[in-house]
Amino acid sequence: MYDLIVVGGGAAGMMAAGQAATRGKKVLLLEKNEQVGKKLLITGKGRCNLTNDCDIEEIINNFPDNGKFLYSSLYTFSNWQLRDFFAKLGVKTKVERGNRVFPTSDSAHDIVSALKKFMEENGVEIRLNSAVETITVKNKQVTGVQTKDKKIYFAANILLAVGGKAYPTTGSSGDGYDIAKELGHRVIPSKPSLVPLEVKEDWAPKLQGLNLRNVTATLVIDGAEKKEEFGEMLFTHFGVSGPIILTLSRDVVNYLGRHSIKLRINLKPALSLEQLDNRLQRDFAKYSRKQFKNSLGDLLPSKLIPVIVQLSSIPATKFVNQITRKEREELVDLLTNLKLTITGTQGFKRAIVTVGGIDTEEINPSTLESKLVQGLYFAGEVIDVDAYTGGFNLQGAFSMGYVVGNNV
Ligand SMILES: Cc1cc2nc3c(=O)[nH]c(=O)nc-3n(C[C@H](O)[C@H](O)[C@H](O)COP(=O)(O)OP(=O)(O)OC[C@H]3O[C@@H](n4cnc5c(N)ncnc54)[C@H](O)[C@@H]3O)c2cc1C
Repeated sequence: MYDLIVVGGGAAGMMAAGQAATRGKKVLLLEKNEQVGKKLLITGKGRCNLTNDCDIEEIINNFPDNGKFLYSSLYTFSNWQLRDFFAKLGVKTKVERGNRVFPTSDSAHDIVSALKKFMEENGVEIRLNSAVETITVKNKQVTGVQTKDKKIYFAANILLAVGGKAYPTTGSSGDGYDIAKELGHRVIPSKPSLVPLEVKEDWAPKLQGLNLRNVTATLVIDGAEKKEEFGEMLFTHFGVSGPIILTLSRDVVNYLGRHSIKLRINLKPALSLEQLDNRLQRDFAKYSRKQFKNSLGDLLPSKLIPVIVQLSSIPATKFVNQITRKEREELVDLLTNLKLTITGTQGFKRAIVTVGGIDTEEINPSTLESKLVQGLYFAGEVIDVDAYTGGFNLQGAFSMGYVVGNNV
């Protein structure tokens, strides 16, 4: 008989298991994969952006729907405490652009190793290749779990920390939703979020690999501007990705299928239309005897030039000194208003997080215990909470895991 069984060895589960064990609890962690922390290893492109060095209110604001639910967890175990926690386990951290926090070693392996050490040194029993199928309940109180290979374990408390549906190759394939539903919990339908977007325009794949910095992308739904993001984006073989696109994707998924969804890219947001026109006039004066296709090298990355030339109303071989004012003004419009039509997303397969999950209304935010079943706890992405990029999702998972570890 265990004091706590943790189902899922991700960020939330490992933190909860180790923390409960520091308090003398007998803890068993069951992980479906052959290793714990498989998703953690690929976070932040293998560098693990574990949290964000901003104040708690800002972290909460980065959870667009249910940030308030995390208020108690984040104040109980803050970003500062998380960094301190890892420092004590020998993992120093550093702050980068956008207050993103990474291990100084730039290695997500160090984060996973530290969490394993935290669990092992405090006596957590870890069983790998153990996929939990059901949580057993008697008189509205948990009694144990049963695995897919029909093993039964008993416990007074059970934490479901199996993640959402995003990036299922790491183990998070939505198992938690069925398990929670069987126990009477409401599950908000899930959608992929922070996910690359597919576009219609056939010129976009030609730009594959092109990373644009300091641009703005505006999301336009049925002709109305919804949201604008400034920063970095990337062209891929299917469409667009990169930080500002991933952020906008959270809104995109709400409109897919029923609405016209466009992105408008401003390639030169630092310049007013007049300043950009002046800039073009200067470049055109400098290259007045060249053909149009050879006149944009000072303004644009070389990969983008043939596409802009193709999309503009100016013939590629027209001599620059013959370009009319109207043509130049149309070019200004194109450079500040490059349109992309969104046709879909790359789905759960490539999503960073899941929108939706176990309804927060049925979970006590101070303890993360179910309001329906005694001794049943939830933490991490399996709950209907999700944030933008920047280390907020992992901070949320770690804080929730800590709270459960402290409450069982
Ligand atoms: C490519 C990528 C990069 C990311 N980068 C960042 C980043 O840099 N910063 C950030 O803040 N967030 C990042 N995220 C998001 C972040 O990784 C997740 O939000 C976070 O890992 C969620 O933690 P969790 O513990 O809830 O779930 P997970 O980390 O998904 O862990 C759940 C665990 O449960 C196990 N499991 C599932 N079903 C069962 C079952 N039936 N029985 C037993 N075990 C089971 C899974 O195998 C898995 O190990 C990234 C996500 C992806 C996909």
